[in-house]
Amino acid sequence: MKLTAIFGGTFDPVHLGHLAVAEEVRARLACDRLVFLIAKSPPLRGVPGARPEQRLAMLKLAVAAHPEFEVDARELERSGPSYTVLSLEALRDEMDDDAALVWVLGQDAYAGLPGWLRWRELLELGHLAVLERHGAVEDPKALRDLARMHATNNIEDLRAKRSGCIYHLRQAPVDISATEVRALVSQGRSAEHLLPSSVWAYITANGLYGWHGAEPGS
Ligand code: ATP
Repeated sequence: MKLTAIFGGTFDPVHLGHLAVAEEVRARLACDRLVFLIAKSPPLRGVPGARPEQRLAMLKLAVAAHPEFEVDARELERSGPSYTVLSLEALRDEMDDDAALVWVLGQDAYAGLPGWLRWRELLELGHLAVLERHGAVEDPKALRDLARMHATNNIEDLRAKRSGCIYHLRQAPVDISATEVRALVSQGRSAEHLLPSSVWAYITANGLYGWHGAEPGS
């Protein structure tokens, strides 16, 4: 079966941790497509620091060097909050019946899954691939119960079935977050080492996240 990986996020901004996740997924799952799905106003978090069109511009710059990755901006066009289940339904409708879909997320996002709208239905629409992340909290009980029924260690299951598997992709975690990037930038400190160079150039050129130029001595 063909396998499409969807990597959803706010990407505020996209950073090298996101690209490492995408590379790892592409290499390990050998997916046919990997799509970055950018969220407009995630229901469970505060207002992003950059405007949607700025986050999208940065994501496109980051992906420009990776022709194997795609960007999907459908959530930016939809009114209301960005519910993953609605996007997955739409993506599923566009796919062949015999194609499999895997939703990619970090351990921190996975631990918060029970707060998502119609979260159990996500496994009817596709699989989940979970990547390790520094500082992730323990999974809540509802999730552990679900994982008991759906977890697989067999990567082949993601192609053999259309949906319903949870696969933990063991990798060396990359300790980068957008929160850290925004904090550094707002203090006038460089976040260049955490970002694709084109994204760092965009942030400084547009004065995002409170950038007013480097603070002396930083
Ligand atoms: P913030 O710090 O603002 O919460 P973030 O760095 O977590 O942002 P998001 O755009 O919110 O970035 O994350 C999108 C997805 O990428 C989530 O599933 C998140 O868990 C995952 N992710 C982000 N950074 C990493 C990382 N370094 N390692 C593994 N997964 C990551």
